[in-house]
Amino acid sequence: EAKGTGGGTFRFYSREMNRRASKRLQVEVDLHRALREQEFFLLYQPQVDAVSGRVSGIEALTRWRHPSLGTVPPDQFIPLAEETGLILPMGEWTLRQACLQTRRWQEQGFNDLRLGVNLSPIQFKRSNVPAMVRKVLAETGFDPHDLELEITEGVLLQKDKGRSECLRELKNMGVSLAIDDFGTGYSSLSYLKHFPIDRIKVAQEFVREIPASIEHLEIIRAIVAMARSLKLNIIAEGVETREQLELITEMGIEDIQGFYFSRPLPGEDVLPFVRRSASREVPLPT
Ligand code: C2E
Ligand code: MG
Ligand code: MG
Ligand code: MG
Repeated sequence: EAKGTGGGTFRFYSREMNRRASKRLQVEVDLHRALREQEFFLLYQPQVDAVSGRVSGIEALTRWRHPSLGTVPPDQFIPLAEETGLILPMGEWTLRQACLQTRRWQEQGFNDLRLGVNLSPIQFKRSNVPAMVRKVLAETGFDPHDLELEITEGVLLQKDKGRSECLRELKNMGVSLAIDDFGTGYSSLSYLKHFPIDRIKVAQEFVREIPASIEHLEIIRAIVAMARSLKLNIIAEGVETREQLELITEMGIEDIQGFYFSRPLPGEDVLPFVRRSASREVPLPT
C-alpha cells in the first residue's frame, strides 16, 4: 500500500514533521518569554510523618501559567527546557523562589520546615551546581540544613568527572541530597555507597501498583531493607489510598508524600495545612 501512495505518505509525514517542528519552536519561544515575564510559579506538596501527622517537609513543583494554554505541567515543558538549556536559568529561578517563600514560612514559626527542590541532570552536566546553590543560599539567607536537593539516579550514573566531588561539595555546604523516583533508574546498592546521599524517595511507579501487585510490594520491601542497611532515610511518593498508606507504614516507611495527605498546594494554602497538621487534624492511620 505504501508503494502506491508513497508520495502522499511522504507529504503527509513532512507536513506532520513541519507541524511538530513549528510547535516546538513556538514552545521554545514561549519558554523564553515565560522566564522573562515570570509565568512560572510553584506549588508545594507536603511530606507528612504518618506517625505524628506532622508536616516534615515540602517539595516545590514548577508549573507554567501559559497565557493561552492555561496551567502547563512540568512533563510538558521541562524536557524542552533541558534540550534548549533554559533549564539552567529556570532551575535557578525555582530554587531562589522556593527558598524565599519557605524562609517566610519558617519566619512565621515553622523554623525547621524542610524544602525539597528538584534538579535536572542537565544542570549538573552544563553548569556548576554547587556555585549556583551557594549563591542562591547567600542571596536568600536560607538555611542550607533545611534544603534537600532531589536528584535522579541518572545524575549518579553520568560519567562526568568530579560528579561525586560536586555532590560532596553540596553536602559540605550543609545541603541534603535525595534520590528521586528511586528504583526506576539503573543504579544499584553499590552506586549509592559511592555518593553522599541522605534519602531515597521510593518511586510512585511502585506505590501505585500496591496492593494489587505482590511483586511491587516485595520491591518496596527490598528497598526499605537496603535503605536501612545503608542508613538512608526513606520516603514514599504517590501514596493515594488508606490501604497503600497502611502497607507502606507497616513496611517501616513513615515519611509520606502523596495525594492521600495532600496534592501539591498553592503557596497560600501551605501554612494553613502545616498548622492543621501540627494540631493533628490531619487523618492518621489507625
Ligand atoms: P517528582 O519530583 O517525582 O515529583 C512528584 C510528582 O508526583 C509531582 O508531579 C506530584 O504532583 C506527583 N504526585 C505526588 N503525589 C502523588 C500521588 O499520590 N498520585 C499521583 N498520581 N501523583 C502524585 P508534577 O508536579 O507533575 O511533577 C512531575 C515531575 O516533573 C517531577 O517529579 C519532577 O521530576 C519534574 N519537576 C517538577 N518541578 C520541577 C522543577 O522545578 N525542576 C525540575 N528539574 N524538575 C521538576
Ligand atoms: Mg533551620
Ligand atoms: Mg522530586
Ligand atoms: Mg518522584
